[in-house]
Amino acid sequence: MAKQTTIYKEISIEGIGLHTGKESKIVFKPSLDDKGIRFVRVDLEQKTEIEANWRNAVSSQAVRGSVIKKDDAFVYTIEHILASAHAFGIDNLTVEINCSEPPILDGSAKMFAKALLEAGIKELESDKLYYTVREPMRFEIGKSKYCVFPCDRLEIDCTISFDHPFLQVQHFTIAQIDKDSFINEIAPAKTFCFDYEIEALRKNGLALGGSMDNAIVIGINGIHNEEPLRYGDEFVRHKVLDLVGDLYLAGRGIKGQIVAERPGHKNNIDFVREFVKKAELVK
Ligand SMILES: [Zn+2]
Repeated sequence: MAKQTTIYKEISIEGIGLHTGKESKIVFKPSLDDKGIRFVRVDLEQKTEIEANWRNAVSSQAVRGSVIKKDDAFVYTIEHILASAHAFGIDNLTVEINCSEPPILDGSAKMFAKALLEAGIKELESDKLYYTVREPMRFEIGKSKYCVFPCDRLEIDCTISFDHPFLQVQHFTIAQIDKDSFINEIAPAKTFCFDYEIEALRKNGLALGGSMDNAIVIGINGIHNEEPLRYGDEFVRHKVLDLVGDLYLAGRGIKGQIVAERPGHKNNIDFVREFVKKAELVK
């Protein structure tokens, strides 16, 4: 029987938040059995602790990133941290944060993954629990579609499609999300946006920390960045990264084959809410 895990030692990361544009510092700290992934707003007097799960997720505010909330405290853009923890099978982790958004770093999960590996993964006493399904499940919301099929590991098949001359359809399948596949195939894929969206995002107070260093900016004829793409199909890989993170809002790891079409944060959260209702927890 697999055991729950946490990390061995604490490790910190600093940088600016993608949407807030503010300096941010997070500290990953070891945690105890059955605590889940918890963000602690150490800048607030109450030191509000928010467990990263579907109960605390705010899908209506998950426009360009996933958001959790407790009382009046929010933490935005948590998905790249969650994806790394999910892929590495880290069940319990405290994430201290000194503002409302973790650093965006290079727009991928590469540095979060590196930090967690450096901190080391430690086994705890309790058995690990997973969500799984016995029967296929299907969920459609807005432009997104999700199917889950019974499977003894987490497999993801994802398709994205845009009505855009440069980025149209991309498809990516990963047979098993685990430490190695995440590090090599998923974690380095960067956040992206379309050039025409930037002005509107900024008017809405989003992407204030966005730059060519932390996001791929797509134009009609290609990308505006000097750094070449890390993968030819980097955009769909990033969507898989975001999905692996959002799926961890289930509160436990998932075993299942997930086929997602046009996933996005808001719909991912609503899907996870439906999924946990129908799924069962197994060891
Ligand atoms: Zn992302």
